[in-house]
Formats: sequence, structure tokens, C-alpha cells
Amino acid sequence: MMQKELVFDTTLEINMNNLVANLNYFRSLIQPKTKIMAMVKAFSYGLGTYEIARLLEQNGVDYLGVANTYEGIELRKEGIQLPIMVMKPEVESFDLVIENNLTPAIFSLYALHKLIEALKINASFNIYHPFLISIKIDTGMHRLGFDEKDIAELINNIKKYPFLKIESIFSHLAATDEAEHDNFTIQQIKSFNHFASFFENEFEYHIDKHILNSNGIIRFNDAQMDMVRLGIGLYGVASDLAVQQQLLPVSTLKSKIAQIKEIPSGETIGYNRKGVASKNIKIATIPVGYADGLSRRLGNGNWSMLVNGQKAPIIGNVCMDMVMIDVTNIECKENDEAFIFSDENPITKMAKQIGTIPYEILTSYSPRVRRVFKH
Ligand SMILES: *Cc1c(COP(=O)(O)O)cnc(C)c1O
Repeated sequence: MMQKELVFDTTLEINMNNLVANLNYFRSLIQPKTKIMAMVKAFSYGLGTYEIARLLEQNGVDYLGVANTYEGIELRKEGIQLPIMVMKPEVESFDLVIENNLTPAIFSLYALHKLIEALKINASFNIYHPFLISIKIDTGMHRLGFDEKDIAELINNIKKYPFLKIESIFSHLAATDEAEHDNFTIQQIKSFNHFASFFENEFEYHIDKHILNSNGIIRFNDAQMDMVRLGIGLYGVASDLAVQQQLLPVSTLKSKIAQIKEIPSGETIGYNRKGVASKNIKIATIPVGYADGLSRRLGNGNWSMLVNGQKAPIIGNVCMDMVMIDVTNIECKENDEAFIFSDENPITKMAKQIGTIPYEILTSYSPRVRRVFKH
């Protein structure tokens, strides 16, 4: 029997050419010798699992960054060969980090201790073929990372085990997108260089240094060091307006009108009768709801979709699997497309509308939403 393919109503379309264009835009901002770690954590900011990692691999990024061991293993299963750094490896599963050739970010003496335990069982590493680690330094974000008081013990411990080699040290900037915190950011960079000097004095081999995220690349370009960690910028979002205009849109969320109804004045629409027809109106039902990731806070006029190029406000509450929009003055028919977000109706605006950031919007769309990759 021929395999039938399900045609999804609601799709998150990812423009792969634009993603590569964004990568190249950031490349143009850094020195040719500066390496790029592309952040593909949370399934490439919600846009795909291995597809984007593979595209980035083909386009010559140097490193991939994921949040946890599971994400790293998933990429290895799909045949991704690039080095992969795990920002918060599970300390009980260092055996899997080792087995899958992932680079753990080591952020505490306890984590180092657990890694060494796992490496002692796995005897294949030695001074000629060391296991590579990255050291995470806390310079003010106060999330994960070594404080200065533990550095001496850290260095002593690493020196004791010649099967370990520090590939890089890094830190994370807390506020690269807000000018009011620029002095703090500069202080973080200074502090990082201070930390780095301990390692440079104690180890003979070269250790890569990195601290910049996307907005850091744009705003603190001098601190690119050996590598930068590029995330949201790849996916088409920057806090700087001029840069935002240089980036190309990567994601579009669209669906199709399931049904159109004429609603007489005085009727109500949806749960708890929150939508009210104050005159005779025409509505369209769209099969996307909060279970897909469309925030319920966008209901009751807080967001508009685009239908045939015109704004159709959400009317009433967002349901789990559906939502109604007002298409009174829009020429449309069933099965026409409705754009939930797109270049004309961007996630930056959607984020502002509900008091969050584009990162949260992107990563909120559930696996139920079909990802479609356009080349
Ligand atoms: C997510 C992340 C980045 C990328 O940040 P963007 O703002 O998306 O560029 C960089 N470094 C670390 C440690 C991260 O967790």
C-alpha cells in the first residue's frame, strides 16, 4: 500500500536559507579566526530537532551548544559529528556524556568529581588522548559556574588527572541587550579575563575563551576572544533595531480556516462567553490553541492573525486546540491560510504584547505543531 502523508493544518515553517543568511551576517561581524558555537538547545529554540543542527554543520559552524545530555544524545543519534557542548550535563549520567562524545561544561567541584568517577571506569582516556572539558565561570549571572574561591582547588584537581584537558573556559553575560547594564557587562568581561589568567598561568596548553552571546556579538564585539556562542540571532531576532533589519525572518506559524460563521449581534463566542458580538460579525475558527503553544494571554483582542493580508483579531478566549478570529471585513473562505506570526506580524511584537521575550514565544510551540523546513 502506498504510504499516505498527513497534510497538517497548522505548521511552523522554517526558512533554512534565511537561517544560513543570518549565520553569515554574524560571521561578517567577527574575525575569521573566531569560532562559532551555534546554540541549538531546546531543539534549536523550538524550531527543529536535528534538521537545523545538520544545516549548521553543513555550513561550517565549529561547535554546537545544547542544554542537557538528552539533547546532545539526540543529535548524535541523528549522526551529527560536530563537537557538542552540554551546558548542564546530568551529573548522574556522565557515562553517557563520555559515550556520546559530548563536551561537558563543568561548573562545580562536585560535577568535576562525578565526571572523574565516570572517567575512571572508562579507561580509554590518557595524556595522549585526553577527555575534553569546558569550565564555566560565574562572573555575575549567578546561575551556574565557578566562583573565585574554588578555582585553586579546581585547577589542582584537573592537574592531578592528566586524562583531563580543558578545551575552553567560558562565562555567560547577563544583560547584553540592555544598555543601562553596560557597565555591569564590561565588569563581567574584565572579571572573566581575570579568571582566565589563572588558567593561562597554570596550564601550558592553549585554552579557548568565550563569553559572547548574540547580542554580545553585536554590542561588545571586542570581546569575541576565541569563540562566540550564537543563539537567538541565528533565528532572526536581535535587540538592536539596525541589526534586526539586517536579519532575515526564519519562522512563520500558519494555519488554515476550519470554519466561517456569521454571528448575529448579541451572541457570544467561545468559553465563558468572553467574545461578544456587539454587531453582526463574521468569525473564522482556526485549529491552533494553547496546547500548541498559542498563549492564552493572546485572547480577547490581544493578538491579531493575518488573513489574506488583513488583521483578524482573536475574539474570546483561546481554547486548547482552537481559537476564533474576527474576519468581519476580510474576504476569505474555509481552508484559507491564517498567519499567526510571520515577518509582517513578528514574534518580537507578540512577545511584547504578553510581557515576555521572543525566546519564550519560540520555545513554547509544542511538538504537535508540524515543523516544515523550506530550502
Ligand atoms: C542560550 C545561551 C547562549 C545564546 O544566547 P542568545 O542570547 O540566544 O544568543 C549563549 N551562551 C549560553 C551559556 C547560553 O545558555
